Amino acid sequence: MREISVQLVTEKVRDLCMKANTDLGEDVLQAIDRAIEKEESPLGLEILKELKENARIAREENVPICQDTGFAVVFVELGQDVHLVGGNLNEAIYEGVRQGYRDGYLRKSICHPFTRANTGDNTPAIIHAETVPGDKVKITVAPKGGGSENMSRVTMLTPSDGIEGIKRFVVQRVKESGSNPCPPTIVGVGIGGTLEQAGFLAKKSLLRVLGTKNPDPVLDQLESEILTEINRLGIGPQGLGGRTTSLAVHILMMPCHIASLPLAVNIQCHAQRHKEITI
Ligand code: SF4
Repeated sequence: MREISVQLVTEKVRDLCMKANTDLGEDVLQAIDRAIEKEESPLGLEILKELKENARIAREENVPICQDTGFAVVFVELGQDVHLVGGNLNEAIYEGVRQGYRDGYLRKSICHPFTRANTGDNTPAIIHAETVPGDKVKITVAPKGGGSENMSRVTMLTPSDGIEGIKRFVVQRVKESGSNPCPPTIVGVGIGGTLEQAGFLAKKSLLRVLGTKNPDPVLDQLESEILTEINRLGIGPQGLGGRTTSLAVHILMMPCHIASLPLAVNIQCHAQRHKEITI
């Protein structure tokens, strides 16, 4: 059994919070480059170039990509041969978020739902932990902005709605969202499971590297069909018109109850931030 101190988890979460908020992934920059080659709207083209410039400044000057530095969503894959020592895992993650948002001068965006009083340190974090084989711990920090999260939805379709019903709902969700989620977006789709599992799948799908194929050929085809329909809507970069409303559609799916067809759409803005480490 390998021992890992939760102190190390705190340090890594701290660093990941700061890195994720200032360093947009190469896969996102490359997806924007591909969009620049195809965008027909002069204004849309201009905005795509500005997004790249914004990302460059953020990386070089170590400042946040966006003023909304997000809810800290943390995915943990905990090897079952790891013994965490020195404290509680959740508390260690919260402390890492606390330190990362303090030391990185990142906006604290978490508040009481009724009083709207800010918790002051961007905690609590949302923690999705699962056990996996092995003696390592993989931690991914994905700060999630409020504008795009607000446009996300979970619904329970009926089995007879089928694939066509899924396509209709996802495209309609993007259409109704308009400029609110700061397009170009990445559209995460979770199909199956239960109500809460569909939402989790949609969020987790956003971690896939942009530009990579879905390993399931049926889902890969569905992603491509939905993306084509979305980019025909004409919403465009920042909602000012153009071909590039979304950079990608990512789908994760699992079996569901015979009476149900759960579906979640988690929209991610162009500030597609996540960083990971394995210890
Ligand atoms: S939706 Fe994304 S890009 Fe828009 S304000 Fe929020 S974090 Fe920033």
